[in-house]
Amino acid sequence: MKKADIPIMIGHLKELYPDAHCELLYNNPFELLIAVLLSAQCTDKLVNQVTPGLFAKYPKPEDFLSLSQAEMEDEIRRIGLFRNKAKNILETCRRLVVEQGGQVPNDYDYLVGLPGVGRKTANVVLSTAFGVPAIAVDTHVDRLSHRLGLTKATSVLQTELDLMKKLPKAEWTFTHHALILHGRRVCTARSPKCGLCSLQSICDLHQKEAKKVAKQTRKQAEA
Ligand code: SF4
Repeated sequence: MKKADIPIMIGHLKELYPDAHCELLYNNPFELLIAVLLSAQCTDKLVNQVTPGLFAKYPKPEDFLSLSQAEMEDEIRRIGLFRNKAKNILETCRRLVVEQGGQVPNDYDYLVGLPGVGRKTANVVLSTAFGVPAIAVDTHVDRLSHRLGLTKATSVLQTELDLMKKLPKAEWTFTHHALILHGRRVCTARSPKCGLCSLQSICDLHQKEAKKVAKQTRKQAEA
């Protein structure tokens, strides 16, 4: 994608998803952190079915510390990878209580040091709960960034760095949420609906495919 096309892409995304936001349910940074931890390899929809009841019973990190590993697993059993997530949540709560007075700090370096918290989770918490501009690269953001031609990265970290370099900082958080929605609804992993996509005129993948088809048509006409 050409540099000049980036504002066009953002404009289209704003028309399509004017209120793009994190779809996980939460009331405070702690609930968001736990919801994002639970959402790894799991749909937001399923996490949203579990967390309201969970947070009603255990509103603070201190409350989770009354649970054993087995009890924590029972609370989130419906969610994939529940054993590992239960372990990470209990340890995260313990550290928040001991080291942060039970608060989630607005601190990237601290957050990525928590068990199960990677760059993506830390960036979602910072941008969504604290309003810090950040780009969290999940599978949708990574896939669309490659298809659109925003990056040729071979790692998620490099994709994040390329997006930070190319997109205006004020649009990082919006673009992250909008690309996720576009990846879920239009530019799906297996069968992107290019015919319905308003980004096709600036999308590298679509342009390449269109050129291939035009070449084949020319060859057939010449044969
Ligand atoms: S044109 Fe196709 S490949 Fe490009 S963003 Fe749209 S759906 Fe995805």
